Amino acid sequence: MDSTALFTVALGLQSPWEVEDIRFAPEQGEIHFDLVCRAKRLACPCCGQAEQPIHDRLERTWQHLHFFQYKAYLHTKVPRVRCDGCQKTTQVAVPWARTGSGFTLLMDALVLALARKLPIAEIAKLFGVSAGRIWQALNVHVEAARSLESHGEVTRIGVDEKHVGRSIGFISLFHDATGRRVLFGTAGRDAQTFESFKTDFLAHGGKAEAVSAVSMDLSKAYRAGASQAFPKAAWCFDAFHVSKLVHEALEAVRRAEVKDVPDLKGTRWGTLKAPADWTHKQINDMHWLQRSGLKTARAWRMKERFKENHRRASAGEPPEPLYRAWISWARRSRLEPFKKLGKTLKDHLPGILAGYDHKLTNAAAESINSQVQAAIVRARGFRNLRHLLNIIYLTTGKPSHLPAPPLVSAHA
Ligand SMILES: [Zn+2]
Repeated sequence: MDSTALFTVALGLQSPWEVEDIRFAPEQGEIHFDLVCRAKRLACPCCGQAEQPIHDRLERTWQHLHFFQYKAYLHTKVPRVRCDGCQKTTQVAVPWARTGSGFTLLMDALVLALARKLPIAEIAKLFGVSAGRIWQALNVHVEAARSLESHGEVTRIGVDEKHVGRSIGFISLFHDATGRRVLFGTAGRDAQTFESFKTDFLAHGGKAEAVSAVSMDLSKAYRAGASQAFPKAAWCFDAFHVSKLVHEALEAVRRAEVKDVPDLKGTRWGTLKAPADWTHKQINDMHWLQRSGLKTARAWRMKERFKENHRRASAGEPPEPLYRAWISWARRSRLEPFKKLGKTLKDHLPGILAGYDHKLTNAAAESINSQVQAAIVRARGFRNLRHLLNIIYLTTGKPSHLPAPPLVSAHA
Protein backbone atom coordinates (compact mmCIF):
# COMPACT_ATOMS: atom_id res chain seq x y z
CA MET A 1 0.00 0.00 0.00
CA ASP A 2 1.44 3.40 -0.92
CA SER A 3 1.04 6.31 1.45
CA THR A 4 -1.96 7.89 -0.31
CA ALA A 5 -3.83 4.56 -0.13
CA LEU A 6 -2.77 4.21 3.53
CA PHE A 7 -4.18 7.64 4.40
CA THR A 8 -7.35 6.90 2.41
CA VAL A 9 -7.91 4.07 4.89
CA ALA A 10 -6.71 6.10 7.91
CA LEU A 11 -9.17 8.90 7.13
CA GLY A 12 -11.96 6.34 6.74
CA LEU A 13 -12.62 7.27 3.10
CA GLN A 14 -14.57 5.00 0.81
CA SER A 15 -15.07 4.93 -2.94
CA PRO A 16 -15.45 7.23 -4.85
CA TRP A 17 -13.35 9.33 -2.41
CA GLU A 18 -9.62 8.82 -2.01
CA VAL A 19 -6.43 10.65 -1.05
CA GLU A 20 -4.67 11.89 -4.18
CA ASP A 21 -1.75 13.74 -2.66
CA ILE A 22 -0.16 14.56 0.69
CA ARG A 23 1.68 17.84 1.12
CA PHE A 24 3.79 18.20 4.21
CA ALA A 25 4.83 21.69 5.36
CA PRO A 26 7.01 21.11 8.46
CA GLU A 27 8.10 24.76 8.74
CA GLN A 28 4.43 25.83 8.99
CA GLY A 29 3.63 22.85 11.23
CA GLU A 30 0.99 21.71 8.74
CA ILE A 31 0.00 18.64 6.77
CA HIS A 32 -2.40 18.90 3.82
CA PHE A 33 -4.41 16.08 2.27
CA ASP A 34 -5.75 16.56 -1.24
CA LEU A 35 -8.81 14.37 -1.69
CA VAL A 36 -10.48 13.52 -4.93
CA CYS A 37 -13.86 12.20 -5.94
CA ARG A 38 -13.16 9.71 -8.77
CA ALA A 39 -16.75 9.47 -9.98
CA LYS A 40 -17.73 10.84 -13.40
CA ARG A 41 -21.44 10.61 -12.63
CA LEU A 42 -23.23 10.68 -9.24
CA ALA A 43 -26.71 10.26 -7.84
CA CYS A 44 -28.60 13.54 -7.44
CA PRO A 45 -28.36 14.62 -3.76
CA CYS A 46 -31.70 16.35 -4.11
CA CYS A 47 -34.02 13.72 -5.64
CA GLY A 48 -31.82 10.62 -5.65
CA GLN A 49 -31.85 10.01 -9.42
CA ALA A 50 -28.82 7.82 -10.22
CA GLU A 51 -25.99 8.46 -12.68
CA GLN A 52 -26.34 12.20 -13.16
CA PRO A 53 -23.60 14.33 -14.78
CA ILE A 54 -21.24 16.49 -12.74
CA HIS A 55 -21.77 20.15 -13.50
CA ASP A 56 -18.65 21.61 -11.84
CA ARG A 57 -16.45 21.21 -8.75
CA LEU A 58 -15.96 23.79 -5.99
CA GLU A 59 -12.73 24.02 -3.98
CA ARG A 60 -13.22 23.55 -0.22
CA THR A 61 -11.06 23.06 2.89
CA TRP A 62 -11.72 21.51 6.32
CA GLN A 63 -9.57 21.42 9.41
CA HIS A 64 -9.08 17.91 10.76
CA LEU A 65 -7.66 16.52 14.02
CA HIS A 66 -3.98 17.31 14.45
CA PHE A 67 -1.53 14.60 13.38
CA PHE A 68 0.81 14.79 16.38
CA GLN A 69 1.94 18.43 16.48
CA TYR A 70 0.86 19.14 12.88
CA LYS A 71 -2.32 20.90 12.01
CA ALA A 72 -4.12 18.84 9.38
CA TYR A 73 -6.27 20.09 6.53
CA LEU A 74 -8.39 18.28 3.98
CA HIS A 75 -8.85 19.90 0.57
CA THR A 76 -11.04 18.83 -2.26
CA LYS A 77 -13.13 20.01 -5.15
CA VAL A 78 -16.69 19.11 -4.22
CA PRO A 79 -18.80 18.07 -7.23
CA ARG A 80 -22.11 19.69 -8.02
CA VAL A 81 -24.56 17.44 -9.82
CA ARG A 82 -26.79 18.74 -12.59
CA CYS A 83 -29.88 16.58 -12.47
CA ASP A 84 -32.00 15.73 -15.51
CA GLY A 85 -34.78 14.55 -13.20
CA CYS A 86 -35.42 17.50 -10.88
CA GLN A 87 -33.51 20.01 -13.02
CA LYS A 88 -31.57 21.28 -9.99
CA THR A 89 -27.81 21.73 -9.60
CA THR A 90 -26.84 20.49 -6.13
CA GLN A 91 -23.55 20.13 -4.27
CA VAL A 92 -22.96 16.60 -2.95
CA ALA A 93 -22.46 16.05 0.79
CA VAL A 94 -18.96 14.91 1.77
CA PRO A 95 -18.83 11.97 4.18
CA TRP A 96 -16.25 13.51 6.56
CA ALA A 97 -18.01 16.78 7.46
CA ARG A 98 -21.36 18.24 8.21
CA THR A 99 -22.71 20.80 5.74
CA GLY A 100 -21.81 24.27 6.94
CA SER A 101 -18.92 23.24 9.18
CA GLY A 102 -15.32 24.12 8.41
CA PHE A 103 -14.14 21.19 10.55
CA THR A 104 -14.31 17.49 9.82
CA LEU A 105 -16.81 15.46 11.87
CA LEU A 106 -14.05 14.00 14.03
CA MET A 107 -12.76 17.49 14.72
CA ASP A 108 -16.31 18.65 15.57
CA ALA A 109 -16.73 15.70 17.93
CA LEU A 110 -13.46 16.52 19.70
CA VAL A 111 -14.47 20.20 20.01
CA LEU A 112 -17.77 19.14 21.60
CA ALA A 113 -16.05 16.76 24.01
CA LEU A 114 -13.59 19.46 25.08
CA ALA A 115 -16.28 22.15 25.38
CA ARG A 116 -17.83 20.15 28.23
CA LYS A 117 -14.70 20.79 30.28
CA LEU A 118 -12.69 23.71 28.91
CA PRO A 119 -13.42 27.37 28.22
CA ILE A 120 -14.00 27.99 24.49
CA ALA A 121 -11.10 30.47 24.34
CA GLU A 122 -8.73 27.70 25.48
CA ILE A 123 -10.00 25.23 22.89
CA ALA A 124 -9.53 27.85 20.17
CA LYS A 125 -5.93 28.37 21.30
CA LEU A 126 -5.34 24.61 21.34
CA PHE A 127 -6.36 24.25 17.69
CA GLY A 128 -4.95 27.58 16.53
CA VAL A 129 -8.29 28.88 15.27
CA SER A 130 -10.53 31.77 16.25
CA ALA A 131 -13.03 31.29 19.06
CA GLY A 132 -15.72 32.21 16.52
CA ARG A 133 -15.01 29.02 14.57
CA ILE A 134 -15.28 26.90 17.72
CA TRP A 135 -18.60 28.55 18.55
CA GLN A 136 -19.81 27.95 14.99
CA ALA A 137 -19.11 24.20 15.20
CA LEU A 138 -20.70 24.03 18.62
CA ASN A 139 -23.82 25.94 17.56
CA VAL A 140 -24.38 23.80 14.44
CA HIS A 141 -24.16 20.50 16.31
CA VAL A 142 -25.91 21.41 19.55
CA GLU A 143 -28.82 23.02 17.71
CA ALA A 144 -29.15 20.05 15.33
CA ALA A 145 -29.02 17.61 18.27
CA ARG A 146 -31.50 19.64 20.27
CA SER A 147 -33.99 19.72 17.40
CA LEU A 148 -34.17 15.90 17.65
CA GLU A 149 -34.71 15.79 21.43
CA SER A 150 -38.05 14.49 22.70
CA HIS A 151 -39.72 15.99 25.77
CA GLY A 152 -42.61 13.53 25.57
CA GLU A 153 -41.84 11.89 28.93
CA VAL A 154 -41.61 15.07 31.01
CA THR A 155 -44.14 15.38 33.86
CA ARG A 156 -42.41 17.58 36.46
CA ILE A 157 -40.82 20.86 35.51
CA GLY A 158 -38.56 23.21 37.42
CA VAL A 159 -37.79 26.80 36.51
CA ASP A 160 -35.03 29.01 37.81
CA GLU A 161 -33.77 32.49 37.09
CA LYS A 162 -30.10 33.19 36.68
CA HIS A 163 -28.24 36.46 36.35
CA VAL A 164 -25.59 36.07 33.65
CA GLY A 165 -23.80 39.39 33.47
CA ARG A 166 -24.73 42.93 32.69
CA SER A 167 -25.22 42.68 28.92
CA ILE A 168 -27.62 39.72 28.98
CA GLY A 169 -29.13 40.23 32.43
CA PHE A 170 -31.51 37.56 33.71
CA ILE A 171 -32.36 34.34 31.91
CA SER A 172 -34.94 31.69 32.84
CA LEU A 173 -33.95 28.03 32.62
CA PHE A 174 -36.56 25.27 32.54
CA HIS A 175 -35.55 21.76 33.53
CA ASP A 176 -37.00 18.27 33.74
CA ALA A 177 -37.03 17.58 37.49
CA THR A 178 -37.15 13.81 36.94
CA GLY A 179 -34.57 13.49 34.16
CA ARG A 180 -32.47 16.29 35.70
CA ARG A 181 -31.71 18.00 32.42
CA VAL A 182 -32.17 21.54 31.17
CA LEU A 183 -34.88 21.62 28.52
CA PHE A 184 -35.03 25.27 27.55
CA GLY A 185 -33.58 28.69 28.30
CA THR A 186 -34.69 32.15 27.34
CA ALA A 187 -34.01 35.81 28.16
CA GLY A 188 -35.93 37.47 30.99
CA ARG A 189 -37.71 36.24 34.11
CA ASP A 190 -41.29 37.32 33.53
CA ALA A 191 -44.50 35.35 32.97
CA GLN A 192 -43.94 35.45 29.20
CA THR A 193 -40.96 33.07 29.56
CA PHE A 194 -43.49 30.31 30.33
CA GLU A 195 -45.24 30.87 26.98
CA SER A 196 -41.90 30.66 25.13
CA PHE A 197 -41.07 27.48 27.04
CA LYS A 198 -44.45 25.93 26.32
CA THR A 199 -44.17 26.59 22.57
CA ASP A 200 -40.76 24.89 22.52
CA PHE A 201 -41.95 22.09 24.81
CA LEU A 202 -44.90 21.23 22.52
CA ALA A 203 -42.61 21.37 19.46
CA HIS A 204 -40.48 18.66 21.12
CA GLY A 205 -43.44 16.36 21.70
CA GLY A 206 -44.09 17.52 25.28
CA LYS A 207 -47.66 17.18 26.55
CA ALA A 208 -48.92 20.16 28.57
CA GLU A 209 -51.67 18.12 30.26
CA ALA A 210 -49.11 15.53 31.42
CA VAL A 211 -47.26 18.15 33.50
CA SER A 212 -48.38 17.59 37.09
CA ALA A 213 -46.06 19.94 38.97
CA VAL A 214 -44.01 23.06 38.32
CA SER A 215 -41.36 23.91 40.85
CA MET A 216 -40.19 27.52 41.16
CA ASP A 217 -39.07 30.33 43.42
CA LEU A 218 -41.60 32.55 45.20
CA SER A 219 -41.82 35.20 42.47
CA LYS A 220 -45.27 36.29 41.34
CA ALA A 221 -44.24 36.39 37.68
CA TYR A 222 -43.44 32.68 37.47
CA ARG A 223 -46.64 31.77 39.27
CA ALA A 224 -48.68 33.81 36.79
CA GLY A 225 -46.80 32.24 33.87
CA ALA A 226 -47.22 28.71 35.20
CA SER A 227 -50.96 28.98 35.83
CA GLN A 228 -51.45 30.37 32.34
CA ALA A 229 -49.30 27.82 30.49
CA PHE A 230 -49.93 24.74 32.67
CA PRO A 231 -53.29 25.32 34.36
CA LYS A 232 -53.52 21.73 35.65
CA ALA A 233 -50.08 21.60 37.25
CA ALA A 234 -49.52 22.19 40.98
CA TRP A 235 -47.24 25.10 41.87
CA CYS A 236 -44.47 24.03 44.14
CA PHE A 237 -41.98 26.23 45.92
CA ASP A 238 -38.97 24.00 46.31
CA ALA A 239 -36.80 23.86 49.40
CA PHE A 240 -33.79 25.02 47.36
CA HIS A 241 -35.37 28.45 46.91
CA VAL A 242 -36.94 28.61 50.36
CA SER A 243 -33.66 27.82 52.11
CA LYS A 244 -31.99 30.56 50.07
CA LEU A 245 -34.45 33.01 51.69
CA VAL A 246 -33.58 31.67 55.15
CA HIS A 247 -29.88 32.26 54.44
CA GLU A 248 -30.64 35.78 53.24
CA ALA A 249 -32.60 36.57 56.44
CA LEU A 250 -29.70 35.30 58.57
CA GLU A 251 -27.22 37.40 56.62
CA ALA A 252 -29.45 40.49 56.96
CA VAL A 253 -29.52 40.07 60.77
CA ARG A 254 -25.74 39.59 60.93
CA ARG A 255 -25.00 42.57 58.68
CA ALA A 256 -27.20 44.87 60.76
CA GLU A 257 -25.60 43.72 64.02
CA VAL A 258 -22.00 43.89 62.80
CA LYS A 259 -22.15 47.69 63.10
CA ASP A 260 -22.46 47.41 66.90
CA VAL A 261 -20.45 44.22 67.33
CA PRO A 262 -17.31 44.36 65.17
CA ASP A 263 -16.31 40.85 66.34
CA LEU A 264 -19.07 39.51 64.06
CA LYS A 265 -17.09 40.57 61.00
CA GLY A 266 -15.36 37.25 60.41
CA THR A 267 -18.38 35.04 61.06
CA ARG A 268 -20.20 35.16 57.72
CA TRP A 269 -19.05 31.82 56.32
CA GLY A 270 -19.23 30.08 59.65
CA THR A 271 -22.89 30.98 60.01
CA LEU A 272 -23.74 29.92 56.46
CA LYS A 273 -21.71 26.71 56.27
CA ALA A 274 -22.72 23.36 57.71
CA PRO A 275 -20.96 22.74 61.09
CA ALA A 276 -19.25 19.65 59.62
CA ASP A 277 -17.40 21.92 57.17
CA TRP A 278 -16.16 24.47 59.73
CA THR A 279 -12.47 25.29 59.81
CA HIS A 280 -10.64 25.43 63.16
CA LYS A 281 -11.11 29.20 63.35
CA GLN A 282 -14.78 28.91 62.44
CA ILE A 283 -15.30 26.37 65.24
CA ASN A 284 -13.89 28.89 67.75
CA ASP A 285 -15.87 31.79 66.28
CA MET A 286 -19.09 29.80 66.32
CA HIS A 287 -18.58 28.68 69.93
CA TRP A 288 -18.11 32.32 70.87
CA LEU A 289 -21.20 33.31 68.86
CA GLN A 290 -23.42 30.64 70.47
CA ARG A 291 -22.52 31.90 73.99
CA SER A 292 -22.82 35.57 72.99
CA GLY A 293 -26.59 36.08 73.30
CA LEU A 294 -26.43 38.11 70.08
CA LYS A 295 -29.28 38.37 67.58
CA THR A 296 -27.07 36.68 65.00
CA ALA A 297 -26.80 33.65 67.29
CA ARG A 298 -30.58 33.37 67.46
CA ALA A 299 -30.87 33.84 63.68
CA TRP A 300 -28.28 31.10 63.16
CA ARG A 301 -30.23 28.71 65.41
CA MET A 302 -33.36 29.39 63.37
CA LYS A 303 -31.49 28.62 60.17
CA GLU A 304 -30.14 25.36 61.63
CA ARG A 305 -33.61 24.35 62.80
CA PHE A 306 -34.99 25.08 59.34
CA LYS A 307 -32.39 22.76 57.80
CA GLU A 308 -33.12 20.05 60.35
CA ASN A 309 -36.87 20.35 59.66
CA HIS A 310 -36.28 20.06 55.94
CA ARG A 311 -34.15 16.97 56.50
CA ARG A 312 -36.90 15.35 58.58
CA ALA A 313 -39.65 16.28 56.08
CA SER A 314 -37.57 14.88 53.20
CA ALA A 315 -37.20 11.65 55.17
CA GLY A 316 -40.97 11.26 55.32
CA GLU A 317 -42.14 13.15 58.43
CA PRO A 318 -45.28 15.25 57.69
CA PRO A 319 -43.91 18.68 56.75
CA GLU A 320 -46.87 20.82 57.76
CA PRO A 321 -46.47 20.78 61.60
CA LEU A 322 -42.71 21.31 61.21
CA TYR A 323 -43.23 24.35 58.99
CA ARG A 324 -46.03 25.78 61.15
CA ALA A 325 -43.91 25.55 64.29
CA TRP A 326 -40.94 27.21 62.57
CA ILE A 327 -43.08 29.98 61.06
CA SER A 328 -44.61 30.78 64.44
CA TRP A 329 -41.13 30.89 66.04
CA ALA A 330 -39.91 33.21 63.25
CA ARG A 331 -42.87 35.55 63.65
CA ARG A 332 -42.28 35.88 67.40
CA SER A 333 -38.50 36.21 67.01
CA ARG A 334 -38.26 40.03 67.19
CA LEU A 335 -35.81 39.75 64.29
CA GLU A 336 -37.27 41.85 61.49
CA PRO A 337 -35.98 39.77 58.51
CA PHE A 338 -37.29 36.54 60.13
CA LYS A 339 -40.65 38.07 61.00
CA LYS A 340 -41.00 39.09 57.38
CA LEU A 341 -39.86 35.68 56.14
CA GLY A 342 -42.30 33.93 58.51
CA LYS A 343 -45.14 35.88 56.92
CA THR A 344 -43.90 35.05 53.40
CA LEU A 345 -43.67 31.33 54.18
CA LYS A 346 -47.12 31.35 55.80
CA ASP A 347 -48.57 32.91 52.64
CA HIS A 348 -46.79 30.37 50.43
CA LEU A 349 -47.25 27.32 52.65
CA PRO A 350 -49.56 25.35 50.29
CA GLY A 351 -46.97 25.59 47.49
CA ILE A 352 -44.14 24.66 49.86
CA LEU A 353 -46.02 21.58 51.09
CA ALA A 354 -46.91 20.65 47.47
CA GLY A 355 -43.17 20.46 46.79
CA TYR A 356 -42.90 17.63 49.36
CA ASP A 357 -46.05 15.93 47.97
CA HIS A 358 -44.55 15.89 44.49
CA LYS A 359 -41.17 14.84 45.90
CA LEU A 360 -39.46 17.81 44.28
CA THR A 361 -36.27 17.53 46.25
CA ASN A 362 -33.82 20.35 45.99
CA ALA A 363 -31.15 17.97 44.66
CA ALA A 364 -32.20 18.40 41.01
CA ALA A 365 -32.44 22.19 41.25
CA GLU A 366 -29.13 22.39 43.12
CA SER A 367 -27.14 20.14 40.81
CA ILE A 368 -28.44 21.90 37.69
CA ASN A 369 -27.67 25.23 39.31
CA SER A 370 -24.03 24.34 39.88
CA GLN A 371 -23.60 22.87 36.38
CA VAL A 372 -25.09 26.00 34.84
CA GLN A 373 -22.70 28.11 36.91
CA ALA A 374 -19.78 26.14 35.45
CA ALA A 375 -21.17 26.52 31.91
CA ILE A 376 -21.34 30.29 32.37
CA VAL A 377 -17.65 30.29 33.28
CA ARG A 378 -16.79 28.32 30.11
CA ALA A 379 -18.81 30.71 27.92
CA ARG A 380 -17.19 33.74 29.55
CA GLY A 381 -16.19 36.62 27.32
CA PHE A 382 -18.97 35.91 24.84
CA ARG A 383 -21.87 38.10 25.77
CA ASN A 384 -24.17 36.29 23.43
CA LEU A 385 -27.26 34.45 24.60
CA ARG A 386 -27.20 31.89 21.78
CA HIS A 387 -23.65 30.80 22.68
CA LEU A 388 -24.42 30.64 26.38
CA LEU A 389 -27.59 28.60 25.91
CA ASN A 390 -25.82 26.15 23.60
CA ILE A 391 -23.08 25.55 26.18
CA ILE A 392 -25.81 25.03 28.80
CA TYR A 393 -27.67 22.55 26.56
CA LEU A 394 -24.43 20.74 25.77
CA THR A 395 -23.43 20.30 29.41
CA THR A 396 -26.74 20.09 31.27
CA GLY A 397 -29.26 19.07 28.58
CA LYS A 398 -28.03 15.46 28.28
CA PRO A 399 -28.26 15.66 24.45
CA SER A 400 -28.43 12.22 22.85
CA HIS A 401 -27.94 13.08 19.17
CA LEU A 402 -24.41 14.52 19.03
CA PRO A 403 -21.67 13.09 16.78
CA ALA A 404 -19.79 10.20 18.37
CA PRO A 405 -16.62 11.15 20.24
CA PRO A 406 -13.35 10.90 18.28
CA LEU A 407 -11.53 7.55 18.19
CA VAL A 408 -14.86 5.79 17.71
CA SER A 409 -14.82 5.57 13.93
CA ALA A 410 -18.10 5.64 12.06
CA HIS A 411 -16.77 2.78 9.93
CA ALA A 412 -15.72 0.57 12.80
ZN1 LIG B 1 -32.52 15.46 -8.95
